[in-house]
Amino acid sequence: MAAPTPVAADSHHGLPVHEVVLIMQTDVHRGLSDAVAQDRLNRFGPNALPSSQGAGLLIRILRQFHHPLIYVLLAAGAVTAALSEYIDSAVIFGVVIVNAVVGFIQESRAQAALASLQAMVHTEAKVVRDGQERTVASDQLVPGDLVLIEAGDKVPADLRLLRTTELQVDESALTGESLPVAKDVAALPAATPVADRRNMAYSGTLVTGGAGAGVVVATGSETEIGEIHRLVGAAEVLETPLTAKLAWFSKVLTVGILALAAATFALGLLRRQDAVETFTAAIALAVGAIPEGLPAAVTITLAIGVGRMAKRRAVIRRLPAVETLGSTTVICSDKTGTLTENEMTVREIWTADGSVTVTGAGYAPEGELLRADGQPVAIEGDAALGWSLRVGAACNDAALGFDGERWHITGDPTEAAMLVVAAKAGLPADRIAGELPRVEAIPFTSERQYMATLNEYGREHVVLVKGAVERLLDMCATVMAADGSARPIDRSTVLGAADRLAAEGLRVLACGVCTSVDPERFGDDQLTGSVTLTGLQAMLDPPREAAERAVAACHSAGIAVKMITGDHAGTASAVAESVGLLTRAEAGRRAVLTGAEVAALPADELPGAVERASVFARVSPEQKLRLVDALQDTGNVVAMTGDGVNDAPALRQADIGVAMGRSGTEVAKEAADMVLTDDDFATIEAAVEEGRGVYDNLTKFITWTLPTNIGEGLVILVGIALGAVLPILPTQILWINMTTAVALGLMLAFEPKEAGIMTRPPRDPAEPLLTRRLVVRILLVSALLVAGCWWLFEWELDRGATLPEARTAALNLFVVVEAFYLFSCRSLTHSAWRIGLFTNRWLIVGVAVQALAQLAITYLPAMNAVFETAPLDVDTWLRIFGVALLSSVVVAAAKGLRTRT
Ligand code: ADP
Ligand code: MG
Repeated sequence: MAAPTPVAADSHHGLPVHEVVLIMQTDVHRGLSDAVAQDRLNRFGPNALPSSQGAGLLIRILRQFHHPLIYVLLAAGAVTAALSEYIDSAVIFGVVIVNAVVGFIQESRAQAALASLQAMVHTEAKVVRDGQERTVASDQLVPGDLVLIEAGDKVPADLRLLRTTELQVDESALTGESLPVAKDVAALPAATPVADRRNMAYSGTLVTGGAGAGVVVATGSETEIGEIHRLVGAAEVLETPLTAKLAWFSKVLTVGILALAAATFALGLLRRQDAVETFTAAIALAVGAIPEGLPAAVTITLAIGVGRMAKRRAVIRRLPAVETLGSTTVICSDKTGTLTENEMTVREIWTADGSVTVTGAGYAPEGELLRADGQPVAIEGDAALGWSLRVGAACNDAALGFDGERWHITGDPTEAAMLVVAAKAGLPADRIAGELPRVEAIPFTSERQYMATLNEYGREHVVLVKGAVERLLDMCATVMAADGSARPIDRSTVLGAADRLAAEGLRVLACGVCTSVDPERFGDDQLTGSVTLTGLQAMLDPPREAAERAVAACHSAGIAVKMITGDHAGTASAVAESVGLLTRAEAGRRAVLTGAEVAALPADELPGAVERASVFARVSPEQKLRLVDALQDTGNVVAMTGDGVNDAPALRQADIGVAMGRSGTEVAKEAADMVLTDDDFATIEAAVEEGRGVYDNLTKFITWTLPTNIGEGLVILVGIALGAVLPILPTQILWINMTTAVALGLMLAFEPKEAGIMTRPPRDPAEPLLTRRLVVRILLVSALLVAGCWWLFEWELDRGATLPEARTAALNLFVVVEAFYLFSCRSLTHSAWRIGLFTNRWLIVGVAVQALAQLAITYLPAMNAVFETAPLDVDTWLRIFGVALLSSVVVAAAKGLRTRT
């Protein structure tokens, strides 16, 4: 089968539609056949960008050497080689290489973890193949495919547009232009630049309004965005405010320590000390004191946290969100689908002459419509009921299907429920479609709050409307009686009925018809005053099982939960009450605000009122932005959910924009920091919990690692100041830093979350990473290390030990104290015993590995030769453990004192 000839790949905008169709060998109505599509898929490959992984392997390896400390080490290695200290020189170069390898592996793993997240949020495209509309994964698209796009979609490939209806596309991803561009189909001059090609829709851009269809002219890396991707190599950014701050901190520290080392060297020379020895001391100082592993360890901890969140169905799109989640103070959540199941069942239909209740559950059209006296209803005898059912089922874009086992739906669950109830009453969808063929439609949007269709009815036309009760009341002058006659409407009766239904937590939709229509002038404006209300349909949408528990967890964690919905205030309050978001006493008071009330609030009262309220009903997506702003004004860190195109600005403004993975549009996902793959509110709570855990583990790692650096630096400084023999050599310091950072410190990243993590208040974002309490602890441990190290070193020498033996003792002391201290750092507040010694298996593995490494450096002759160490006897080990134990007791006591006060 022939494939499209990629003639002048970049010129499709210059050709009329029919020529493009000819070149791409496709069909404007039927699209490609499956066989041809498969053939082209084999030929052109999947419609995906090559992962950025492959880009610049060499660069990524070289980057590992681009650290100030590595420069210092390389210089030190060169100088020691020049001084003929070949073993030292070899150790230094060895360390540099090991460091680069470890860094490379860690970075690759972190990047792979982030890259795999993209795959969790896969995108789909609507395509016409063999004349049928289908949904396929975007990477299955091939040149020539006929693709349909509508508001909310991400354009899946480069398209030459064939049809457009008010199509608007946000091309900022491609051109940087933030205003949406209007599209049409007319051919353009060949020289038109990309930004002005109004008849093309480019891959990766976002449809913000209208709809359209187009032929795929380029896929994968052949697309415009693919070109850019190839040029830039689009690397994943592994940076967050915290890592940036830490990187800066280490740089400043490095410069400071280098200056100190240089001063030391100069001082030594002035004092006419041995040049080689002084140089060695200066190097030891630099190597020991610079916390080189810090930024990398932080990145790894973040990446592990991101992985944990993904397992709990929260996919992080921007790494800084991991940090921000831990300090979230308010979560603003949608109601339908997030706090509730979004599985609707019509329970009651109200008409002016009475109500019927509906039996049956789920989407199976099995059940009955019963009068108040329990008798089944015949719809033939009740025009108002019959028309309410017809409006519900005909003014409807959903579909009901049976796969041999279960009933399933496509489209909006609200609409599906209305199909089900009509079918229960003996009005299946095909019969309705035959009676009332659709001519035109005004689709439902959250702003409009209703949907209307123009249908043929015999030789007449009729307009069917369904939507929010308040909205329909504005259109209706009359209400239908059981005999089909229309009488003047009494607004308060209808509103009363709606309120009663809403108070039970039911979602209420009003239905209406209008027969006096001019089919030529079908539109919004024609409806006002001319509609006859037929009745109200009330449907149940059960709260999600996990919602109540999750809301309670948020409350105990000091996080306010607010519901933001387009639904009726009564329905919203009832649902809010059932998930514990509102108490009965609060319902109806200032805790519930409607969109209209919010709009009427003066600017200075807004933040306070918004902070007090828990439920916002009848809110339009535009108002969400105002709510986020108001909450942020009062110092809140806001997480906000959204799914539609119009939610994007609020998602961007929120500290954590949360998009729905299932029901959300691509536009919302692009704007979000986090995507919930199950749309569940409980997942946000889980992510907050993980976010707090990640931040804890970061703090733990830093609290653990800094004393080593400070201790090592001070040991050397004291030695130099006193003009004494150094208790630890530079190569030995390198050994400590390298091995403990990987075998011990990194294991803190796997630390499970602490028990009380969701019972403490959110972290103040302005609070420094290390509180005063922790700084004191770090200094205490550093002091213990310095004192213990010097004491043991001198003791061993006094006892008659050789210099290598005394140094080996000092080196082991450092490692053993760090290992003991590691257990203390597992909890920042509780004692090591309280959380259980063996609850982090990785940590035990790490300690075992470290122990083997220490035995090796102490007893293996080869290692003795390289590191100038010597075997120790049992007595020395006892002293080492004695000192380590003593310092642990001091640290534990200090910790206990601090937490009790
Ligand atoms: P939410 O998603 O917060 O529940 P929506 O914006 O979807 O709120 O719905 C707001 C109101 O619009 C509902 O109370 C209902 O009356 C009406 N409505 C919802 N879905 C439809 C629909 N498909 N057709 C017509 N009206 C609808
Ligand atoms: Mg909705």
